[in-house]
Amino acid sequence: MGKVLPQFERSHFPAINRTALEILQVNLGYLCNLSCRHCHVGAGPKRTELMTKDVIDLVFAYIQKETIHTLDLTGGAPEMNPHFKYVVQQARAMNIKVIDRCNLVILEEPGYIDMAQFLAENKVVITASLPCYLEDNVDKQRGKGVFNASLSALKQLNELGYGQVGNDLELNLVFNPQGTNLPPEQSVLEADYKQYLKAHYGIVFNKLFAMTNLPIQRFASMLQRKGLFNDYLQLLKDNYRAENLAGLMCRNTLSVDWQGYVYDCDFNQMLQLPLGANYPKKTHLRDLLTTISLVDEAIAVREHCYGCTAGQGSSCGGALG
Ligand code: SF4
Ligand code: SF4
Repeated sequence: MGKVLPQFERSHFPAINRTALEILQVNLGYLCNLSCRHCHVGAGPKRTELMTKDVIDLVFAYIQKETIHTLDLTGGAPEMNPHFKYVVQQARAMNIKVIDRCNLVILEEPGYIDMAQFLAENKVVITASLPCYLEDNVDKQRGKGVFNASLSALKQLNELGYGQVGNDLELNLVFNPQGTNLPPEQSVLEADYKQYLKAHYGIVFNKLFAMTNLPIQRFASMLQRKGLFNDYLQLLKDNYRAENLAGLMCRNTLSVDWQGYVYDCDFNQMLQLPLGANYPKKTHLRDLLTTISLVDEAIAVREHCYGCTAGQGSSCGGALG
């Protein structure tokens, strides 16, 4: 597991508050078939933390109480949670949009050969990491053989209708930089990805999300090992853009960990930074079932938040600008 960093400073990051809650991002556990270098969760094949059915039922009780329209499933590899299919089916029966943050390779693993078909049947939006369209770069960051397995999974998804014009099965790809730079402009990169993947492999997809690496967990450990941590943080601060504040994902999204504790975002979850300024201790989903809405609540911000406001901005849905 990646080492959690020393506490970030409160810093001068502006105070921000929540708007209406629309998206619940649920981490189904840290078990993953891969161990990527940039992983901000520190996920891997040896992790045993998985959300139980009891906690999953709390998630649905909370969805019923709130105005949530999207369930964003993450991990680890969310598909490796034994209750994954139950979660998807329950949500779809409630007419909730489901996003699967899929590493693609899982769709090629023994035991998961029916997963792509299942996702298509349930009209699950797939948001898949592919940090580059070149084999060497992907394998360097994610592990040997990952690029070819990813291509094979993408072809399988295209055959099911994902990413095809005129089909409502949505397939989005996620880019994150290999090193200590900010992502290039998302629209330009998306055009490059589309052109290259179509020309070389006949692969199509809907959108590309360019995400900034936040300096936490495994990526932070790498920065520390190389003595680059402070420089990277400074880069994020130097590229601060106030216009990105309005679109920050923490404003309309709540992050839930595998045990049911809630955080302002996935990154705060990894830093174990409790929800908002008004909740000094860790808050559990069951506490929120009996409280009023979170609208206008202050969000817990620290220096790592500059990763979301730098340059074109960054969120689970890509650039903000
Ligand atoms: S696939 Fe995703 S969750 Fe798994 S190790 Fe890689 S970055 Fe982490
Ligand atoms: S890390 Fe980003 S999403 Fe999380 S609280 Fe900070 S600004 Fe919001």
